Amino acid sequence: MDVILLGPPGSGKGTQAKMILSEFGIPQLSTGDMLREARKSGDLDIRFQEIMEAGGLLPDEAVFDLIEKRMLAEDCKKGVLLDGFPRTIEQAVSLDILLLKLSRKVDVVIQVCVPRSLLEERIIFRRSDKHTGQIYHLIYNKPPSEVELEHREDDKPETVKKRLDTYDALTAPLLPYFDKKGLLFSVDGTGAPSEVFGRINTILTKIKENSI
Ligand code: AMP
Repeated sequence: MDVILLGPPGSGKGTQAKMILSEFGIPQLSTGDMLREARKSGDLDIRFQEIMEAGGLLPDEAVFDLIEKRMLAEDCKKGVLLDGFPRTIEQAVSLDILLLKLSRKVDVVIQVCVPRSLLEERIIFRRSDKHTGQIYHLIYNKPPSEVELEHREDDKPETVKKRLDTYDALTAPLLPYFDKKGLLFSVDGTGAPSEVFGRINTILTKIKENSI
């Protein structure tokens, strides 16, 4: 099953991706995580770091190369869960071509819907464990005191608005694009992560059983 998880920053895609992985065994391919890894190991072009810190999008080819390389790995043969990619119509077209070459196709696109006011609050108070990547919220899901926390540079209030605007301008047009193809399902992304997962689980189970 090749699945795209679509939703604005802070909609909980990363959290859901981990739950989907444990239920369906499909690996999460997060371009944001890949770029942050590259940055940590000093492999990310300084121009790209600056774009990320400002809340903009990297050039399509730069991100596509990461996805293409990763998709060819053994653990991706039975399906992948794309998180943060595609983010533009051009990326979606490149993905279709890549999947076609691999005799695959996008099976389903799940849109995680969360109101903007909630997104801002979720992102600004988001912190992660520096060592495990576990995500916390300083108010609703407090980290244990011993955890060494990291605050993403682009989660700072001044950048969050830009990232949300970028999503509305460049990524939201993917919704009608996938809807026309009959691939789009929307879920309410509010509530506890387990509740949101329940909604996603229902859709993926039906897709897996070919009953949608
Ligand atoms: P994310 O963790 O998905 O919010 O991504 C963090 C940042 O990485 C984004 O704000 C972009 O600067 C960059 N990025 C991640 N995925 C993509 C993509 N598919 N296309 C362009 N830039 C991306």
